[in-house]
Amino acid sequence: MKKYKIALLSGDGIGPEISSVSVNVLNKISKKYNFDIEINEHLFGGIAYEKYGAPAPEETLDKCKKSDAVLLACVGDMKYDSLPRELRPESGLLKLRSELNLFANIRPVKIRKSLIDSSSLKKEIVENVDLVVVRELISGIYFGKPRGYINNIEVPKAFNTMVYDYTEIKRITDIAIKIANQRNKKICSVDKSNVLEVSQLWRETVFNVTSKEKGLSLSNMYVDNAAMQLVKDPSQFDVILTSNLFGDILSDLAAMLTGSIGMLPSASLNNYGPGVFEPVHGSAPDIAGKNIANPIAMLLSASMMLKIGLNEKEAAENIERAIDNVLSKGFRTLDLDNGCCKVLSCSEIGEKIVEEI
Ligand code: NAD
Repeated sequence: MKKYKIALLSGDGIGPEISSVSVNVLNKISKKYNFDIEINEHLFGGIAYEKYGAPAPEETLDKCKKSDAVLLACVGDMKYDSLPRELRPESGLLKLRSELNLFANIRPVKIRKSLIDSSSLKKEIVENVDLVVVRELISGIYFGKPRGYINNIEVPKAFNTMVYDYTEIKRITDIAIKIANQRNKKICSVDKSNVLEVSQLWRETVFNVTSKEKGLSLSNMYVDNAAMQLVKDPSQFDVILTSNLFGDILSDLAAMLTGSIGMLPSASLNNYGPGVFEPVHGSAPDIAGKNIANPIAMLLSASMMLKIGLNEKEAAENIERAIDNVLSKGFRTLDLDNGCCKVLSCSEIGEKIVEEI
């Protein structure tokens, strides 16, 4: 029997509530699909700071590195905002990403049929949306040097450098190819090669790397047009491959097509070690401890973990199907309530989803 070791980081706020639902779902799915899943919880975020004085303790990072995948809920709370930056829960997240070399951020955007009216766009625009944004995460303009802010001169100035080398573009393209091959073999690479040299290298490299893949269709789009097309006709996209800055903006834009933050999963990956799978939302301190949070974004993250991280595709799809069944029967958490459905607590909707598996 296959056996997987999962590091679970429940973190802060609603984290423990949505984690508990995820553990129940993973336990049920592993029995059904005949694999063994060992889930070990480790302290991370504000709760780790309380106990060890650090948001990402070495022991937690070490356990994450030795696992097959990391499932993270969320971290943060206002009470940590006055701490020095390196002790805040959010710095723990950055440390985890850099220690695990997570250069690829994957954010799927899929409209669930029963939630179609939650989108701020018209039904006919969003009804067939099912895309994935593949964003380079640890290079580009956010990390490029030189960078600086000079204000002790007559006219203050500031600058950043957008830089990529061939290897960095190739490795993120390889990830996009892997994902495209599990979907419709269609990649749209987004850049600004009409203006930027760095985008020229991006475009050439993506072309060279993808041209070795049989049956893969590649298109290119300038980022300004991509932003427009995502609002005008988002269903034309399948896999969007892009750099750090453009991906940051486009993935938030694309995510909001669904209209609900409690539904959005993500994965951050590297080439050789465990990935981190986590909902897009934060720790929602305003509803923490009330058992009313929506656990679905974390369940969809667990589904991504099974599909991308552990290659358990059927089990992953079963989780998605179970979620769709529960939603189409009219069950919702409070954040999705539109007045005509039955509102359940976090743990209750979790039980319904477990029953559907
Ligand atoms: P947030 O995502 O936590 O909450 C925004 C709003 O969405 C709130 O009204 C909240 O109640 C609601 N919400 C979020 N997730 C929900 C869910 N699963 N079910 C129902 N409602 C949900 O963002 P915020 O309020 O800006 O940040 C709160 C804390 O989370 C901060 O400390 C912030 O730094 C941190 N944060 C962490 C992450 C992460 O862990 N990856 C991401 C973003 C923010």
